[in-house]
Amino acid sequence: MSTAEIVVVGAGPAGAAAATHLARAGRDVLLVDRAQFPRDKCCGDGLTTGALRELEALGLRPDDVESWRGVDEAVLRSPSGREISFPFPADRGVFAAVARRRDLDAALVEIARRAGATVVEGHAVTAVSDAGDHVRVAIDGVGDVAARYVVAADGMWSPVRRSLGLGVPDADGAGAYLGEWHAFRQYFCGVGERAATELMVWFEPDLLPGYAWSFPLPGGRANVGFGIQRGGAIRTRSMAALWPELLARPHIAAFLGPDAVAESSHRAWPIPARAQTMPLAGAGGRVLFVGDAAAATDPMTGEGIGQALVTGRWAADAISRAGAGHPALAATLYQRAVADELLPDALLSRLLGRVLKLPIGARLAVRAAGATDLGRRAFALWLFEACPRAVIATPRRWSSTLGAGQGAWAHGPGHSSSRSWDVGQGAQETKHALREG
Ligand SMILES: Cc1cc2nc3c(=O)[nH]c(=O)nc-3n(C[C@H](O)[C@H](O)[C@H](O)COP(=O)(O)OP(=O)(O)OC[C@H]3O[C@@H](n4cnc5c(N)ncnc54)[C@H](O)[C@@H]3O)c2cc1C
Repeated sequence: MSTAEIVVVGAGPAGAAAATHLARAGRDVLLVDRAQFPRDKCCGDGLTTGALRELEALGLRPDDVESWRGVDEAVLRSPSGREISFPFPADRGVFAAVARRRDLDAALVEIARRAGATVVEGHAVTAVSDAGDHVRVAIDGVGDVAARYVVAADGMWSPVRRSLGLGVPDADGAGAYLGEWHAFRQYFCGVGERAATELMVWFEPDLLPGYAWSFPLPGGRANVGFGIQRGGAIRTRSMAALWPELLARPHIAAFLGPDAVAESSHRAWPIPARAQTMPLAGAGGRVLFVGDAAAATDPMTGEGIGQALVTGRWAADAISRAGAGHPALAATLYQRAVADELLPDALLSRLLGRVLKLPIGARLAVRAAGATDLGRRAFALWLFEACPRAVIATPRRWSSTLGAGQGAWAHGPGHSSSRSWDVGQGAQETKHALREG
């Protein structure tokens, strides 16, 4: 049996972030994924300010992600049909972007490799067991590895969680866990001017509190999809039938343009959003769950890339601080970070999600957020996680609002190449300012 100080299972954003931070802290890390990168991941590909700041800290350069596209405003359409634009600050970094997960995740794995992690692709972890002072990890085609810690970043279905017998029931208490949301995604090419440039969210009355989206990608492409909450009026099994009807709705068809063509089949995947009841640690603290494996996505929007990156970082910090001999301390440090920083925001998101369930709630929310110029700018920052969601209710985090008006790569991104990361105008202005400054 071979050994590694830490095995990270899953090389999506959560696992790549954990492996990078651990390797940079001088740890011996094995990052294992059953897929070969680049690989697709069913996702909207939208990146919030919170995610972008984590990516910047990891050393990602937008230039290294081929399908990167900066975004300078979000447009929301209320159930009444009213559209409101929410602009991001024009000259203070990048607040929102879209990048295909195929490209983004491969770039993150490369960063982990360069940081010193050993990357094993194309091999699945088949079992994890608690062996007291270590954890035994069985890797298909590789053999058993003894590790002091395992970071389980293995996504929604988390085979590590199941292997340790930590299965959780579904929200209604019956059957296997299927996630809080279910979402559809399809790539389109040949889209019209609006879909090629605007980040659009439609609050369709029948989808609430879910929504449909079109997120712009370079080359006249867009990531288009919709998500619904499990247990609502629309059953997940009727989503496939609803999809063509949704795309044919006049405002959506007009937005995508007459020449838009699907360039791949649609895909669906669940989204887990219940970090408050999901096990965050197992095997006495030697296994820490991060990202979707910890059900860390935002309960209101279903966004989870930022949450995956940050929980990966927190788990890495907890392990580095606790050291090999103190797994219970590692678990405590990690659980405390999640309880202090993630759970208040998740709670507020869940409450707001209830408001958005009703068309009148969604209509009033969009109208109130768009009532004034200042309100629109503040709402854009809040929606895209430039500051913690529940910051008002958590005074100890008020200082974080000081940096809310600053996006990622605000001080010189180290990506000066002129190859366009195909930014919106706001980010273009930043690039000019950087070149001149
Ligand atoms: C349709 C849809 C749209 C979404 N849109 C957005 C969005 O626009 N913005 C946003 O922020 N979030 C979005 N999300 C949520 C986001 O995709 C997830 O929260 C995010 O991918 C979580 O990252 P992760 O690293 O935890 O898990 P994943 O990205 O799922 O990575 C898990 C990794 O574990 C690997 N793995 C699994 N089992 C094993 C095993 N046995 N052995 C080895 N490796 C294994 C997998 O191959 C995979 O690479 C969306 C989700 C869906 C379904």
